[in-house]
Amino acid sequence: MFGSMMQQPLLISSLLVHAERHHGEQEVVSRRVEGDIHRSTYRELAARSRRMAKALAALGVNSGERVATLAWNGHRHMELYYAVSGSGAVLHTLNPRLHPDHVVYIADHAEDAVLFFDLTFLPLVEAVAERFKTVRHFVAMTDRAHMPEAPKIAGLLCFEDLINAQDDHFEWPNFDENQASSLCYTSGTTGNPKGVLYSHRSTILHTFAIALPDALNCSARDTILPVVPMFHVNAWGLPYAACMTGAKLVFPGPGLDGKSLYELFETERVTLSAGVPTVWQGLLGYVEANDLKFTTMRRTVIGGSACPPAMMRTFQERYDVQVLHAWGMTEMSPVGTVAALKPKHLGLASDARMAVQATQGRAVYGVDMKIVDEQGAELAWDGQISGELLVRGPWIVNTYFKSEGGDPLVADPEGRGWFPTGDVATIDADGYMHITDRSKDVIKSGGEWIGSIDLENIAMAHPKVAMAACIAALHAKWDERPLLIVVKKPGAELTRDELLAFFEGRIAKWWTPDDVVFVDAIPLGATGKMLKNRLREQYGRHLVGAA
Ligand code: AMP
Repeated sequence: MFGSMMQQPLLISSLLVHAERHHGEQEVVSRRVEGDIHRSTYRELAARSRRMAKALAALGVNSGERVATLAWNGHRHMELYYAVSGSGAVLHTLNPRLHPDHVVYIADHAEDAVLFFDLTFLPLVEAVAERFKTVRHFVAMTDRAHMPEAPKIAGLLCFEDLINAQDDHFEWPNFDENQASSLCYTSGTTGNPKGVLYSHRSTILHTFAIALPDALNCSARDTILPVVPMFHVNAWGLPYAACMTGAKLVFPGPGLDGKSLYELFETERVTLSAGVPTVWQGLLGYVEANDLKFTTMRRTVIGGSACPPAMMRTFQERYDVQVLHAWGMTEMSPVGTVAALKPKHLGLASDARMAVQATQGRAVYGVDMKIVDEQGAELAWDGQISGELLVRGPWIVNTYFKSEGGDPLVADPEGRGWFPTGDVATIDADGYMHITDRSKDVIKSGGEWIGSIDLENIAMAHPKVAMAACIAALHAKWDERPLLIVVKKPGAELTRDELLAFFEGRIAKWWTPDDVVFVDAIPLGATGKMLKNRLREQYGRHLVGAA
């Protein structure tokens, strides 16, 4: 017997309809590429999104076609989030930090029909425009007064002209909730980047889950500033969660340096933010150097790579900003776990509580996870044994776009698929998952695994260290041994022996890195993660000498 409730498809447009109807006056503030601060509301954003949906139809964009963006976080990008997906097309957020060859590969693979771009990325688009095979229209995300001369881009269109040519009388279409809504490509440190094609249903379910108090904890009383880019897994879902909850939104545009972010946090009275650890390093550096404090910010989500406990401590103990350590992947929409405390942790001493918060956290409802050994047998949740982490759930990828790379799933005895994350983790009896490594970053010394993240966290806790990466370096006796690559804080004096002495008592002696290489900078990938494969290429033979 079926239940007798309404059948209403879960569509992304419904989020915007809700925000307009119930939070119409709520503000959406953007620092724009043009240099100004733009203020609008959900009411205006909804009307402009409807006009843009009509403009897309006028450009001949059909349901299911891909519409690409190369853009910062801003109101025009948000309007495209809703106009494109809401009208049944697929929003493809390209990462402008990728190498131009990758941008061309990905746009061709996705068969993008239209490309919208912020003026910052004009040189990139000019350099590659002729190489795109499928793009029919290029649109500069600006107004007529700021339209650039761009002889290399034939028929360049203007965003505000497209909006001004339409009225906002438009009904969002109704369709199957399983229809594709947006497309993101994985960072792809090896092999070709692969596309993850989200659906309306997966996006709405993910939005419900992340807005909950023990996840990203969003409400109508919040002012949310997503530092995480809208081209990095849909800014972790915040542009959707803000509409669902009616939170005020503040978009930082291109200003991601510590000073610009801090000013926006203070002037707009931001309460909740989200970003990768490398961004927070810049912000904390600025706040510390100028002896400032956060007057309204009380929570920040940190994920994308492991949050060093030293950073967590600074945020929480010095600035009274609670850190929500979260883990996820492009393939997971992206949120999988958040390190929210349970009641039993509230009475713990600060160090013990911090140890719980430093894990990647427990699964949000909807995500199921397990760890397995090399034969695929499930391992105990004892917080000690580590194995490959597998996940499943309604917002986790089933197959990559165009079945690139074949079937990624691992079958279990019940015949249900699990997605192999490539992360190596422990899970404790309370369900807190702790990532010890990416499987390809694991250091195998004499057959035993050493967790590079733990070693990086210790190095990062040293007051003179700005950034640290730990890699597996080839070793004549042990196959591999840990090697630390370190960037010192500006002006700091620090020797190899001083730093290695800092590991004593903090870790089993045999885990201590064999050597330290001091460098000026560690290479970062397009989403702000340390490129350890690049470091391995460069320093992998450091302990055995040149070949
Ligand atoms: P991406 O799909 O590019 O966002 O990368 C996903 C990968 O980032 C995961 O499989 C993890 O290896 C890593 N990652 C994400 N969040 C965390 C975290 N909080 N701690 C450690 N690694 C993380």
